[in-house]
Amino acid sequence: MKTAIAELRGRRVWDSRGRPTVEVEIRTTGDAVGRAIAPAGASTGSGEAVDLRDGGSTFGGYDVRRALYGIATEIAPLLRGRDVRDQRAIDALLVTLDGTPDKSRLGANALVATSMAVAHAAAAATGVPLWRHLAGDGPVGPLPLPEIQIFGGGAHAGGRLDVQDFMVIAVGAPDFATALDWTAEVHRHAGRLMAEAGRLCGVADEGGWWPAFDRNEEALEMLLRAIEAAGRLPGEEMAIALDIAASTLGRCGRYHLRREAEPRELDSDGLAALWLRWLERYPIVSIEDPLAEDDPAAFAAFTRAAGPGVQVVADDLVVTDAARIRRAAAAGAGNTALIKPNQIGTLSEVREAVRAAGEAGWAGIVSARSGETEDVTIVHLAVGWGLPQLKVGSFARGERMAKWNEGLRLAEELPSGGALPPAPRFPWGRG
Ligand code: PEP
Ligand code: MG
Repeated sequence: MKTAIAELRGRRVWDSRGRPTVEVEIRTTGDAVGRAIAPAGASTGSGEAVDLRDGGSTFGGYDVRRALYGIATEIAPLLRGRDVRDQRAIDALLVTLDGTPDKSRLGANALVATSMAVAHAAAAATGVPLWRHLAGDGPVGPLPLPEIQIFGGGAHAGGRLDVQDFMVIAVGAPDFATALDWTAEVHRHAGRLMAEAGRLCGVADEGGWWPAFDRNEEALEMLLRAIEAAGRLPGEEMAIALDIAASTLGRCGRYHLRREAEPRELDSDGLAALWLRWLERYPIVSIEDPLAEDDPAAFAAFTRAAGPGVQVVADDLVVTDAARIRRAAAAGAGNTALIKPNQIGTLSEVREAVRAAGEAGWAGIVSARSGETEDVTIVHLAVGWGLPQLKVGSFARGERMAKWNEGLRLAEELPSGGALPPAPRFPWGRG
């Protein structure tokens, strides 16, 4: 057998924020190599699997020696000799070996890098691209529709704006490459307009522009102007998507906003009313985490009030956990799940989360984290598992462009070419 794990090793590499992270490399008995790197979030949900860090003063406490030690002393010996094609069995072993409900003993960073490296090794050992391996005998999805950040805010830009992500979705683009072309122009014009207005401070964590706006709505106005300057029809060709990341704005139904007309304390209804006003005023088709993770009833009320024409995305509330997705869906809190592999730890559990979303009638968006690397596994995951959207941060910096560029490469390989999900490819699109 050439698909058994001969060697599994972890190494410390570095992410887009200059922090250590875990890479796992697997070599099979047939000399196939699979490699994957764990990402890391900044605005993390409290229910996420634990990203194991050393603490202390080295590298701000972010070192990953403990995670690497677990890989070397426990994970590698356990998995040696296992068939890399047996992802489910390997993932089950990893979960059992860790033995904690939140993956805090070995670390979700160690587990996710291992689990993804197994998939890469299996694809390499069987001589197929990763997207094909992930799809198995099932159908392969088209390329996902990109959701791309133009301005950073919240935890990704030092709290410069209350809202974390101001993004665009090329809802009218005929194919993946055109969606990127249009976004590139919006991104470029946004930077130019901000510089002209004296509102440009640089680049935020995920590659979007770091704004110096005084009020949240200035970002929305500027985004509209950038879409128009790029020659695109707002709403029809280029729509707006937001990630409020409301868990960073408050808890227990009390929210604090600093970038409104005046600093404001709002309750859940007040916060929801603010977003509903924005939905009326701007061509917003998608809004993520509009309420905090501990405010599910208000999340559900907002989803109802926004109506089926708006994609309401649950991130912190469901943290890529099948059980939480089922609970949120039953309560009507959201209609779309954000899917981030490192929130749960193993690919098999991610798959379960995707299934739970599908069974609940929810859509899924595969998402990168704010701390990223050149790893492009999530692009293959979106295609192999047929998830219709992909969120990666902005249209700048290598760790982001690596994903968009991988999509362009896949457009040449996939049976569907560069086609985006079939119409209505954006089921919650207005109109
Ligand atoms: C997000 O909140 O959706 C996100 C990608 O940010 P982070 O990785 O910082 O959680
Ligand atoms: Mg989010």
